[in-house]
Amino acid sequence: MQIVKDYGPITGESIAEKLNLTRATLRPDLAILTMAGYLEARPRVGYFYTGKTGTQLFADKIKKMKVEDYQSIPVVVNENVSVYDAIVTMFLEDVGTLFVVDDESLLAGVLSRKDLLRASLGKQELTAIPVNIIMTRMPNIAVCYKDDSLIDVAEQLIEKQIDAMPVVRKTEKGYEVIGRITKTNMTKAFVSLAKDDV
Ligand code: ADP
Repeated sequence: MQIVKDYGPITGESIAEKLNLTRATLRPDLAILTMAGYLEARPRVGYFYTGKTGTQLFADKIKKMKVEDYQSIPVVVNENVSVYDAIVTMFLEDVGTLFVVDDESLLAGVLSRKDLLRASLGKQELTAIPVNIIMTRMPNIAVCYKDDSLIDVAEQLIEKQIDAMPVVRKTEKGYEVIGRITKTNMTKAFVSLAKDDV
């Protein structure tokens, strides 16, 4: 790195010469430094020092984490199912947020644990109330896409004070739900960073 700092841009061949090594011996080291972001390789120009610190490179790595690599399978219910059935689904599927879809399987709303608890506080017959009465509905649903940066979605979860977001695909008719991103996925992503699994 010092050689590249002092002489860059410099070819792999020239670096090898300065170190009295063959180009082949040096290749893996250069590959690692390039992959880690400390050096950049330009074809026909050579290597140069990016000037990025470890902290900057770590931030770059975090920003490159994508929703699709951490998302879970979504659990959806139809908007006409009863609050009672939604509660049962939440227990059976072991999730904290359900996504509600219409008859065309397009996103219509979101049900959180507290939405269902609130509905249960009244004296209503839970088997008789459809979830579309109590859900948070479109267009007030915060959604994300599989190519979104995970950290941007994490920021939105904090900002909007919600636990989960549907991962959607946009169609002319509305949003298809293709995944689920929750605070648990964020915790897992955090752990994978520490284990260098990213
Ligand atoms: P809980 O209410 O169980 O703590 P949340 O914090 O996720 O769970 O939900 C808070 C409120 O925000 C609920 O009324 C819920 O319907 C709504 N909500 C949850 N997720 C979203 C979302 N992605 N977009 C808009 N509203 C949401």
